[in-house]
Amino acid sequence: MRWSQYFVYTLREDPSDADVISQKLMTRASMIKKLAAGIYTYLPLGLRSIHKLESIVREEMNRAGAVELSMPAIQPAEIWQESGRWFQYGKELLRIKDRHDRDFIFGPTHEEVITSVVRDSINSYRQLPVNLYQIQTKFRDEVRPRFGLMRGREFIMKDAYSFHTSMESLDDAYTAMRDAYNRIFKRCALDYVMVDADTGNIGGSASHEFHVMAKSGEDAIARCPKCSYGANTEKAVGTIADAGLGSDAAAPLTEVATPNMKSIEDVAKFLGVATSRVVKTLMYDTDLGPIMVLIRGDREVNEIKVKNYSGTQWVVMLTDDRFDEAVGGPAGFVGPVGAKKIRVIADKHLEGTTNWITGANKLDAHYTGATIGRDFEAPEFADVLLVREGDLCLRCGTAMEIHRGIEVGHIFKLGTKYSKAMNCVFLDEAGERQPMIMGCYGLGVGRTVASAIEQNHDADGIIWPIPIAPFEVMIVTAGQDENVRTTAAAIHDKLEAAGIDVMWDDRDERPGVKFKDADLVGFPVKITVGAKSLAEGNVEWSLRRDPKARNIGKPDEVVAKVVAMIEEARGTR
Ligand code: ATP
Ligand code: MG
Repeated sequence: MRWSQYFVYTLREDPSDADVISQKLMTRASMIKKLAAGIYTYLPLGLRSIHKLESIVREEMNRAGAVELSMPAIQPAEIWQESGRWFQYGKELLRIKDRHDRDFIFGPTHEEVITSVVRDSINSYRQLPVNLYQIQTKFRDEVRPRFGLMRGREFIMKDAYSFHTSMESLDDAYTAMRDAYNRIFKRCALDYVMVDADTGNIGGSASHEFHVMAKSGEDAIARCPKCSYGANTEKAVGTIADAGLGSDAAAPLTEVATPNMKSIEDVAKFLGVATSRVVKTLMYDTDLGPIMVLIRGDREVNEIKVKNYSGTQWVVMLTDDRFDEAVGGPAGFVGPVGAKKIRVIADKHLEGTTNWITGANKLDAHYTGATIGRDFEAPEFADVLLVREGDLCLRCGTAMEIHRGIEVGHIFKLGTKYSKAMNCVFLDEAGERQPMIMGCYGLGVGRTVASAIEQNHDADGIIWPIPIAPFEVMIVTAGQDENVRTTAAAIHDKLEAAGIDVMWDDRDERPGVKFKDADLVGFPVKITVGAKSLAEGNVEWSLRRDPKARNIGKPDEVVAKVVAMIEEARGTR
């Protein structure tokens, strides 16, 4: 391909509305163009990277036994009403009407469609298992579309769904998909981790996320540097390293005046103790009524754990005006002693401790010496701790680290949630009707490409991993000499004949301009053909990743070396 024939125009300036580096560089390198918030055109260079990732994904899906199909983007409301998600999904679901005033949606995901396809096509255990996937455009009306392709509204996802007669069969498919995901991200040369994840709204029993490590990541990942434990902090478990509250003999319950001291810090300071000695009381509203959650004063509650443990559908902070009705005390001064009857969940670290400092359910008052069993009923103890840096790994006791990650893939064991709701059943060997057991497996295509840039760039531009680079080699001609141009054309044709994706910057521009553009777009290999080296029969080549190491050689030698190197990086040699 010649630059002059291609559709590429680079920009010197960062776009004013870009927050992250991948968005800036993809825009400046003319890979994407924004049309509206979270809605982008994939320009030719961007589309090439997307297609490359898609072919890696296809190869690995096929290898794992999944079969490709393509489902409609527009889906009728009826199947969403059947699954119940028509009522649950909220504003991310783009609802549309056709000319007959019938309700449709633009698919944010495809559990309903695939379940309706499979229930109509399969009825016997003999036809199972199946695993079906597609690579397709989704729409989610995200509250804050941002970060370019990382959180778009319209975006490309690979989604796969498997159907089984037993948990064992689901386990096999799940393992095969997990391995396939690991191969995909390894083949893209990304620094990523697979972590335990919360199953969120989709529901189900087991789930793993794949995160590309990058400072701009929206997720916090707890990782044990010693053993292999890793988990999204939404789910991560750990032990607080220092003791905090003790288990000394119980002192008498004593009321202390704490005028205007609504915060843990104020109370701790006033009493001359560490914040870890004060028990923090949080009040939540849930679909099952208000609940009280207790935790050490220096730590935060993980609301997702509260929701999962309590078995509620939703959990939000209780508003101040509802405190009185819920506990019988004012906000800032509530606690378990003397509270109205209410469900109380305490973080497991409080179990067995004594002499709590808590709110007294009276304005401007706290208790010291509050003790479980004597002063108030024992709460339910559960892990509701939001894990942070330094907490100890439950597996090996090592202090954990927290890193930022970009979620690029998410796999779930769904179970029978959709098959039950939508009557997707099979006849088992005994002729009994059973709901199919499902798994689902998502991978963000655009997000993965963008995350590769978040991880691989420098001040001059993108540094593509070879397997997903839009072009692998850039030939830069310095000057327009006949000899320079014929040599460049010959190198170009030989590389192309060898199956290498090569672009020749044949523009009549200064070499400096071409080098800058080559660096910005991030071609992994650059071959420079200039009159001076050519006088000795040589051309120069270098790697984008290591620009200082310049190599020189005869055109044919260079072609052979570059082909070998690229084939190795692609994993095809
Ligand atoms: P997030 O928590 O980031 O919103 P999610 O849990 O909603 O993600 P899934 O429903 O599991 O995501 O979707 C599967 C994959 O699709 C994700 O792992 C991610 O790579 C990709 N994805 C999800 N939402 C977006 C988006 N708005 N833009 C780009 N990719 C997305
Ligand atoms: Mg989401």
